[in-house]
Amino acid sequence: MIQMKSKTCLGCFYPLPQPFLDLGEMPLANAFFRPEQAGQKEEPFHLAVAYCPNCHLVQLTDLVPPEKLFGEYLYFSSYSDAFLAHAKAMAQSLTERFQLGPESRVIEIASNDGYLLQYFQQRGIPVLGVEPAKNIAAVAESRGIPTLNRFFGPDVVRGIQEGFGPADLVIGNNVLAHVPTVNEFLQAVGPCLKQTGTAVFEFPYVKELLDRTEFDTIYHEHVFYYSLTAMRILAQRAGLELHDVTRQPVHGGSLRVFLQHKGMSAVSSNVTDLLAEEKAAGLTGLDRYTAFSRDVAVLRDDLVHLLRDLKAAGKRLAAYGAAAKGSTLLNYCGIGPETLDFVVDRSPYKQGRYMPGERLPIHAPERLLEVMPDYVLLLAWNFADEIMAQQQAYYRKGGKFIIPVPKPKIV
Ligand SMILES: [Zn+2]
Repeated sequence: MIQMKSKTCLGCFYPLPQPFLDLGEMPLANAFFRPEQAGQKEEPFHLAVAYCPNCHLVQLTDLVPPEKLFGEYLYFSSYSDAFLAHAKAMAQSLTERFQLGPESRVIEIASNDGYLLQYFQQRGIPVLGVEPAKNIAAVAESRGIPTLNRFFGPDVVRGIQEGFGPADLVIGNNVLAHVPTVNEFLQAVGPCLKQTGTAVFEFPYVKELLDRTEFDTIYHEHVFYYSLTAMRILAQRAGLELHDVTRQPVHGGSLRVFLQHKGMSAVSSNVTDLLAEEKAAGLTGLDRYTAFSRDVAVLRDDLVHLLRDLKAAGKRLAAYGAAAKGSTLLNYCGIGPETLDFVVDRSPYKQGRYMPGERLPIHAPERLLEVMPDYVLLLAWNFADEIMAQQQAYYRKGGKFIIPVPKPKIV
């Protein structure tokens, strides 16, 4: 096993205490198996989370090398309607807020298949994507979105400054959680911004993770689980000022933070209010995290018992959403082929493959109507409304869904 154990905090280098949550040995959550790999054994990787009492940063204790994680990344953003709608609304809101036009420059870090930048480009705003996954960068290019196939960091700054120019807006959606060298990463953001420019980052909010027991959003790719408190300290260290924050409903509840060069804007009361809320909610002390860990154990027992009882009553079960979080949930709870017959997912890149670890086959969603399992465990619960709307026919024929978080419930 080639995992690096962090003895000190990845943000401030303070000695890291014992993990508050240990999920044990897990396969990589996005390593969907092809049929011809069926005989191969998967490498197990330790998955545990610790809280830094010095800078409040919640982080994995064991890191997996990025080339193992992102070589062939199968998450194509454009396959979810809800996510595309969110991207479109984000582009519109930021274009208006910063009055962007053909003279402006927009850079997106981890731009995926160009799902977000396309909406800026449609408005005539020059864009540049930075995307490390080779196959996904190629898809973006083929759709006409200029894309640098690199990891963002100090090495690409000069190329961006000279080739594209400093930007009015740098966006990073769901990327800050993935980068272990977060100080270097954030230090590289400033030089890519005009003096008046703004960097906007969106990431899952640790308070939602705790309050809604969303433990399945923990997997090896997500190194960090941010509070605003921790994010602000990191930004300061990188010479940036966090001057505004909004809450977003995506991915089980996210934060959108606005960073600028120091002294460019007054700090919004949104920031001071949320910092106070976090303190009141215990996010700046270990106890809240320890309580979460107890909630996770209860959720696992409840879910396993529910599924076992249904199975014992002769019911047939399947799952929806071959998402990374589904892999964490199934593997941590030990739910496999003895309980679920198969998983369905809309992405053709995942169909015909198998879930990591528990090795459930992945089919197209049409399979639900063909086979009519009695219950469908919703692994992609963050898209529950969208999925249940698409599966009206299954629902009308008597099918039922099980939503696993924050507490297992049948709908
Ligand atoms: Zn720290």
